[in-house]
Amino acid sequence: MKHTELDATEENPIPAQSVDPLTKIYVEPTNRCNLSCVTCIRHSWDEPFEDMAWPVYQALMEGLANFSDAKTIAFAGFGEPLLHPRFPEMVRLAHENGLRTEMTSNAMLLTSPLAERLIDAGLDQFTVSIDGTSDESHGAVRPGASLKEIINSVRTLYWWSATKCSTQLDIETSLHEDFLRKIKDTGGSELGFLGTADFQFPIKDGLDLMPSAPLKIGIEFVAMKSNIHELPALQKIAENIRASFILVSNVLPYTAELQNEILYSLEPTSHEGQGSDRNPNWILPKMDWSLDTLKSISTISSQQANLSYLDIDLNQRNNYCPFIRPGSLALSCHGTVSPCPPLMHSYSCYIRDRKKFFRRCEYGNLMEQSLESIWLQPDYAGFRERVRKFEFSPCTDCSGCEFADGNEIDCQGNPFPVCGDCLWARGILRCA
Ligand code: SF4
Ligand code: SF4
Ligand code: SF4
Repeated sequence: MKHTELDATEENPIPAQSVDPLTKIYVEPTNRCNLSCVTCIRHSWDEPFEDMAWPVYQALMEGLANFSDAKTIAFAGFGEPLLHPRFPEMVRLAHENGLRTEMTSNAMLLTSPLAERLIDAGLDQFTVSIDGTSDESHGAVRPGASLKEIINSVRTLYWWSATKCSTQLDIETSLHEDFLRKIKDTGGSELGFLGTADFQFPIKDGLDLMPSAPLKIGIEFVAMKSNIHELPALQKIAENIRASFILVSNVLPYTAELQNEILYSLEPTSHEGQGSDRNPNWILPKMDWSLDTLKSISTISSQQANLSYLDIDLNQRNNYCPFIRPGSLALSCHGTVSPCPPLMHSYSCYIRDRKKFFRRCEYGNLMEQSLESIWLQPDYAGFRERVRKFEFSPCTDCSGCEFADGNEIDCQGNPFPVCGDCLWARGILRCA
C-alpha cells in the first residue's frame, strides 16, 4: 500500500523512506582496474585506489533491512568489480537478501571458473562494455582488451546460467555433463560452439543452439566520432553473446583530446518543458525513419528544445536525474554514500569547451553511521528534493560566469552540489 503523509499519526509515524523510497543501490566494489581506457574518468583523478572493506558491505546489507523498497544492487562505478577478491561473495549475500544483482564489467577477467561462481552466487544481469566491433577499434579505446576473448567469456557466462538453470530444473542433465566437463577443461574457448573467429555468428548461417538462460546480458557502448560508424555491427555481437539490451551513451571528455570526439551539440533548451510563445512544442507522429524523413527529423531534433515523439515528451530527459528520481544512491569503495555515481569522486571534465571541476559529494560513511540515518538526514533529503524539482541554474546553456567552472553554487543561490551542468540529467550520458 502506498502511504501518504496524511496516514501518519503521532503513535505510528510513516517512515520517511516510504515517501522518499530507496530502490536501487549502486555499489563500487573497487576503484582499481585492469585496463586504462582512453575514455576513463581515472585520467583526471588523484585518488588512492582501494577495495571496499568487507564490513562496509555488511553494513550496507544490514542497513537495507530497513528499506522495504530496495530491490536492486548494481555493482558498477569507476573500477572493475571482478578485481575485488570477495566479489562473488558480495553477489551471493545480496542475492540471499532477496535483491536483484546487476553488474557492469570490461569482462577481461571473466574466466570460466569465475563465471560459474557468479552464476552460483545468483547474478541476475551482466553488462559488458564494448566500444568497438573489431579487436582493433575496441582496443583503440580500451588498450590491452581483446574483443574475441570478451565474446567467448560472456558466452561462457551465459552458458553457465543456462546449464545451471536446467540442472536445477533436473531437465536432461546428462546432456550437459559433457559440456560441463569440456568447459571446465578448456575454459570454454576451445568449444566449437564458442568459436567466434572474426566475430561472425558463432554457428555461421545456422541456428545458435545455446539454450535460453535466466541471466540477462547487456552491452554498454560509448559513442564517439571515431566509433559511431561501427554501431550497426553491434547487433551481431549482441546476438552472439545473447544480449537483450544495448545501451549507447555519449562520451564525457575527461581529457582535452576527447573534446573532438563528442556527438552532441547541446543546443539551447527550454526549462519550461511544455512550450511557450517563443519556443513552441513540436509533437511528432510515428513515421518511417528513411532518407526522405531523416534530414528533417534530425534538423528539428537538434534545433528545437521542446519535442514530443509518439506522445513521449523528450523534455523529460532534460532536468531528469536518472539516479535520484527512481530512488537510488551510490556507495563508493571508500564506504561513503553519495547521491549518484557521478558524484562519488572528484574529477574534471569538459562541457562545451569549458573545463569544469566536479567535487565529490558524500553524506556519510557506513563505518560511522547507519544507512537509515544517512538517508534521512535533512541535508541529504533536502538535496534530493531540490533535484526532483530541478530548479538549478542552466549553466550548460549559459556558461556565462565562473560558477559554471565548478559545482559549488549557482546564480540562483542553490548550495553545493548544484546540478545545472549535469549531462546525465539531460539524457546525454547513460549507464545501465
Ligand atoms: S574498464 Fe572502466 S574503470 Fe577500467 S579503465 Fe576502462 S573505463 Fe576505466
Ligand atoms: S543531476 Fe547529475 S549530479 Fe545531480 S544528482 Fe543527478 S546525476 Fe548526480
Ligand atoms: S550560474 Fe553563471 S553560468 Fe550558471 S546559469 Fe547562472 S550565470 Fe549562467
